[in-house]
Amino acid sequence: MEERKILLEEEDMPDKWYNIQADIEIPPPLHPATLEPLKPEDMEPIFPKALIKQEMSKDRWIRIPEEVKEIYRIWRPTPLYRAIGLEKFLKTPAKIFYKWEGVSPPGSHKPNTSVAQAYYNAKEGVERLTTETGAGQWGSALAFACRFFGLKCTVYMVKCSYEQKPYRRILMQTWGAEVIPSPSDKTEFGRKVRQEMPSTAGSLGIAISEAIEDAIKHENTKYSLGSVLNHVVLHQTIIGLEMKKQFDMLDLKPDVICGCVGGGSNFSGGIFPFVPDKMKGEEIKFIAAEPMACPTLTKGIYAYDFGDTAQQTPLLKMHTLGHDFIPPAIHAGGLRYHGDAPLLCKLVDEGIVEARAYYQNEVFEAAKIFAQTEGFVVAPETAHGLKAAIDEAIRCRKKKEEKVICFVNSGHGHFDLAAYDLYNNGMLQDYEYPEELIREAIQRLPCI
Ligand SMILES: *Cc1c(COP(=O)(O)O)cnc(C)c1O
Repeated sequence: MEERKILLEEEDMPDKWYNIQADIEIPPPLHPATLEPLKPEDMEPIFPKALIKQEMSKDRWIRIPEEVKEIYRIWRPTPLYRAIGLEKFLKTPAKIFYKWEGVSPPGSHKPNTSVAQAYYNAKEGVERLTTETGAGQWGSALAFACRFFGLKCTVYMVKCSYEQKPYRRILMQTWGAEVIPSPSDKTEFGRKVRQEMPSTAGSLGIAISEAIEDAIKHENTKYSLGSVLNHVVLHQTIIGLEMKKQFDMLDLKPDVICGCVGGGSNFSGGIFPFVPDKMKGEEIKFIAAEPMACPTLTKGIYAYDFGDTAQQTPLLKMHTLGHDFIPPAIHAGGLRYHGDAPLLCKLVDEGIVEARAYYQNEVFEAAKIFAQTEGFVVAPETAHGLKAAIDEAIRCRKKKEEKVICFVNSGHGHFDLAAYDLYNNGMLQDYEYPEELIREAIQRLPCI
């Protein structure tokens, strides 16, 4: 009988994160005003020292504090599943696996970093964290984490989500966070946006600007980001490190690892521990999947850009659609950030990682097949990585190849059922972000 679920013992949970900065080098972040490489003290108004150190560290292994492991143990180690039902449905000779991160209380991989970030902030005497959230996954992960370390939490939630997706707002409030629709009148930048664009639905870039402004202007308050930055992807490497141990238990090695990319944290966390193997010559394919509606890696350019709309953040060298990108309203599939993690972008630029973009109807079709063959209803974001895995499995059927395919199953879709409803009723429209908008946005990139 084939094993369906590969479980690690609690004591086999990794006790260090893997820092890929020991093995690859990226162009430094630049100060937004001087354009000089950023110094650690430049980041101190918004991040605690321990996280700044991790952001710039070249140490290959970083110890996971006992207090963080204590909380991780609520849901970690997470199971690796063999997708037997999906394999049968696809009639593929490939073995398909998925690393299931939906078992955390907020329902995604995001608490792998929110718990660590809350811990380091609390340890340095911070009393409140601010952040932004789109659909609410990151906000809920941070609200959950702040609870465990006695921190207050303020979440700027993109206005259209605040209005259309009440359940994650309720979840954040249940964990004790204050949730503010963005753009708001709480910040100078929010007020300015509301004056200039009274009917705007908001964007992640705007909400980030508000959360940073709030942190800078208040005592004992820092800002927390749920993706993109080096320390965030560092914390997420626990996904790939566990996966490695689980494949070792099976005496298998993945040939292909797929995952979805919004800011790049779950996918990077899944693949980074395998990247040194590829650099040593092992054959392993990494596929990053993103929406056609926000095609950062496939159509964006690799250049320095701001992380937010107000141009307050350091400049990061990354694939970008431009810092003033506002995602199309008809897009239901999540993954709406204009940039991506610089560490991941570097791997894409070097050809170590392949990127693919998908339309939302084909993504939801994959999600529905998965729900009907494996049972789990995954987040629309996650379904992009799943779609890539299904495509690979179909390719294996055509070529009669018995490959081992794994995808990072980043979270459940229980709060995204309205999007499933649209799909079930044939009401989702495919949308491709127009090339001319990308060309225009590139004109507005900082000149470096
Ligand atoms: C936030 C989120 C993503 C996208 O963020 P990354 O940083 O790219 O991982 C993907 N899946 C789920 C379930 C999420 O909550």
